[in-house]
Amino acid sequence: MTPRPLAEEAAALRAQIERANAAYYELDAPEISDAEYDRLFRQLQAIESAHPEFATADSPTRRVGGAPAAYLPKGRHAAPMLSLDNAMTDEELRTWYARITGLDARVVEAPLNVELKIDGAALSLSYADGVLVRGLTRGDGVEGEDITGNVRTISDIPLRLTGSGWPRRFEVRGEAYLPKRALARLNREREAAGLELFQNPRNTASGALRQLDPEEVRRRRLRFFAYQLVVMEGAVTATAHHQVLEQLEAWGFKVEPHRTLCTGIDEVSRLADEWEEKIRTLDFDADGLVVKVDPIRLQEELGTVGTRAPNWAVARKFPPEVAHTRLLGIEVNIGRTGALAPTAVLEPVKIAGVTVTRATLHNEDIIRQRDVRIGDLVEVIRSGEVIPKVLGPVKEKRTGQEVEWVPPTRCPYCHTTLVRPEGEVNRYCPNAACPGRNYESLVHFASRSALDIEGLGPERIGQLLEAELIRNAADLYDLTAEQLVALEGFAEQSATALVEALAQSKHRPLRSLLVALGIRHVGTAAAKTMARHFRGMARLRAANEEQLLTLNGIGPTIAASVVSFCADDRRRELLDALAAHGVAQSEDGEGPVDGGAFAGRIVVLTGTLPTLSRPEATARIERAGGTVTSSVSKKTSVVVAGDEAGSKLDKARQLGVEVIDEAELLRRLESGA
Ligand code: NAD
Repeated sequence: MTPRPLAEEAAALRAQIERANAAYYELDAPEISDAEYDRLFRQLQAIESAHPEFATADSPTRRVGGAPAAYLPKGRHAAPMLSLDNAMTDEELRTWYARITGLDARVVEAPLNVELKIDGAALSLSYADGVLVRGLTRGDGVEGEDITGNVRTISDIPLRLTGSGWPRRFEVRGEAYLPKRALARLNREREAAGLELFQNPRNTASGALRQLDPEEVRRRRLRFFAYQLVVMEGAVTATAHHQVLEQLEAWGFKVEPHRTLCTGIDEVSRLADEWEEKIRTLDFDADGLVVKVDPIRLQEELGTVGTRAPNWAVARKFPPEVAHTRLLGIEVNIGRTGALAPTAVLEPVKIAGVTVTRATLHNEDIIRQRDVRIGDLVEVIRSGEVIPKVLGPVKEKRTGQEVEWVPPTRCPYCHTTLVRPEGEVNRYCPNAACPGRNYESLVHFASRSALDIEGLGPERIGQLLEAELIRNAADLYDLTAEQLVALEGFAEQSATALVEALAQSKHRPLRSLLVALGIRHVGTAAAKTMARHFRGMARLRAANEEQLLTLNGIGPTIAASVVSFCADDRRRELLDALAAHGVAQSEDGEGPVDGGAFAGRIVVLTGTLPTLSRPEATARIERAGGTVTSSVSKKTSVVVAGDEAGSKLDKARQLGVEVIDEAELLRRLESGA
């Protein structure tokens, strides 16, 4: 190849990588897969190292991460937060080892500490005199985004250290992550609320951390593992990395427990083989192992490669569960909110032992952005329990025969013209009586996260609709065993069992009914909040937006959606019919106490309370009839301020809102006045 095209190729690769970086680090919405990204990155590294004349000073191969977001305040790291060099194979792992042994022969004698490479978002936490004072994202490695308020909501992160012997000032680095189970739970809530599902734990965690509302971050239930200590003032006794990790644990940090001190590279290599098999069985995403030279002195002497990664560590990455297969067609379904849901029909392909024939294509915008065409060879990923996804086309393999997909303009079920509201990524079927939507709504109504009606799965619902035995959810409660036995596949026993299951479902709590109704934006969390507050369907139906807005976690979108749902004629009829059958009309358990110490009062908590955790304080105030909200306004009755209360306290003072401390809060809760 002549130098000219190579220079151009380097420039084109840089542009592609910059674009991918912006999507991944700044928007938390990657446009290409990690495997594809790593391939481009390595291609560029290879060109730049063979032809340093084509390298540029600002090449992505010399930088870390992406630019900090403009809407968040910035903070400087005490020492640069670096990335890691990757070893994709055992051979590359050994090449790294040979290289650093060449830099310093003492490496041969040094133990290697092997940890899991957690796939989340890197954080740097600053502590002064044992107290958390600041939390930053990695950002570009030099400056990160100051997200202290969000970081404080992560329960694994100690606000005050335990034990003793910590240096006066230091930073702890580690990874915030979202367990797979927590993602599944969030997605169940989002599905119930008719919201778009989160695609993977890493982007959900990183996106959450960069939100402006700490309450929203708390709801995502992020976790944190610490893996590095940077001392700014003072000293520690630990001289080896594995001792630092033990020290961090003693101070109250969580450190990932699967770590091994190996005596040489052969042991690391064997360990990597073992983990490649089992790493996907963990409850959090980990994409490899991190191998670190254990003695800290030696780490310091080995230094860094250029500006991007340390010499003393390497990430031994494992390939993701992706495969290439042909996209045969795109099928469209209508979800219960009316949203068009495109599904890829694939040539069957085995991914991690499972044959995949269908995968989600998310929405129309993504198909267009990723330029997916029918007939394309596409990259498909399957991770854990999540439904397989099409990541994008393999453009190099195009033959020219591929055809662009044209989204339908009419609903495939009722032929109503689809609409696309401004700013939405989907087209919708606007017909509230659409049989496709109705079917999906009924499937949702009976599903486990909603009224959990045993024996009433999607097939049976289809059968009941077809036989015209039901039109809506309330009709289910008129079904008799005699009617059911007349249908194919129903024996007397299964018919009686279904009628019995329906009768039982009437005793579910109100929160289940609120989920089952499929009110847009109302997931399990909002349903629970409303049910606990109103305790009865009749009271909830009578509530206006203002009343709903006083509840913790109910914002204007949910409030408006609930009110408009209850005001809609068709829905009113359905709600009346469900009430007439006595379906899940009330909530058991502890509701607010009328006439409690905080009855009718709106309370804001700020700072760290000396003894009560936020959830505890919230629960106790709610039990005493109060409502806890996250921001101070003229409507706020009382602000409870703990240590390091910031802007909320200032605002309360400005507005003349009463401010009390925890001792006073406890006194009022206990005295009931
Ligand atoms: P990286 O994720 O490959 O490795 C470095 C990071 O690993 C550290 O910053 C740290 O946060 C993390 N880490 C996890 N466990 C650790 C442990 N035990 N010890 C030390 N560090 C640990 O590198 P990166 O610079 O964060 O990102 C580059 C990678 O991100 C790429 O290889 C690619 O996989 C992905 N990426 C993808 C896209 C895309 O468009 N798909 C774009 C940019 C980056």
